[in-house]
Amino acid sequence: MDHISCSQMNLYLNCSLKYKFNYIDKLPKPFKSSGLAFGSSLHAALAWLHENRMRGNDVPVDKLYKIYNADWYAQKLNTEISYKDGENEARLSIMAKELLSLYYVKPQVKPKGAEVAFTIPLVNKETGETLDVPLEGFIDLIENDNTITEFKTSAQKMNGDTVNDHLQLTAYSYAYEVLYNRQPTRLKIVDFVKTKKPKIITLQTEVDKLDYQRFFHLASGIIKGIKSGVFFPKKSFMCKDCEFSEPCKSWKGN
Ligand code: SF4
Repeated sequence: MDHISCSQMNLYLNCSLKYKFNYIDKLPKPFKSSGLAFGSSLHAALAWLHENRMRGNDVPVDKLYKIYNADWYAQKLNTEISYKDGENEARLSIMAKELLSLYYVKPQVKPKGAEVAFTIPLVNKETGETLDVPLEGFIDLIENDNTITEFKTSAQKMNGDTVNDHLQLTAYSYAYEVLYNRQPTRLKIVDFVKTKKPKIITLQTEVDKLDYQRFFHLASGIIKGIKSGVFFPKKSFMCKDCEFSEPCKSWKGN
């Protein structure tokens, strides 16, 4: 195990057997969920927009839609997209256009970094203990005023409780402190909500020393679980979109 990321941690917490199928057994995936593909394509368009704005380029909104479409095309090249009831490619494309248009006109501080990659040691700041597996990830957006932003796509708007216990924002805040030797000014989630009338909701949160402690112990426990081979199915709403439902059915505890 050469690193751990927030998406790996979230997946292990949600269903450790799915983590094993995905990251250890690397089983082929018979399809990709539309939600995942949509989120990736929207992220690609936003990253492109921010990189251009960082360089001072004023890009037209039409070009933004084209980046979404190009990424969507790439997403479906080698796999089938599994749609939810009432969804299809054309509807999602209209949804993406509406959401990107809403975001495009939002006032924004000049970006300082987009998709900022990091690999950093996981250190317990209280005891100095360092885990033998580093934390890897990407910060979606760092603004010039040192605000960290994470982009999400969701079917229903996120609530305040979810954002206050948000693993990714804690990790990104910690990473920011390690990389830049200062605290971020604020932590934001920009939620692209795929409701009938699409909307963008911005939520803000704060993290403190206790959140970092909690994150360290969570990462430590998850790494121990993975290294010890602790994997089991956890039935939840995620099962209906799971690419591994067949191997899950024949799971015999090994
Ligand atoms: S079907 Fe459900 S329980 Fe089985 S691996 Fe997938 S998410 Fe886990």
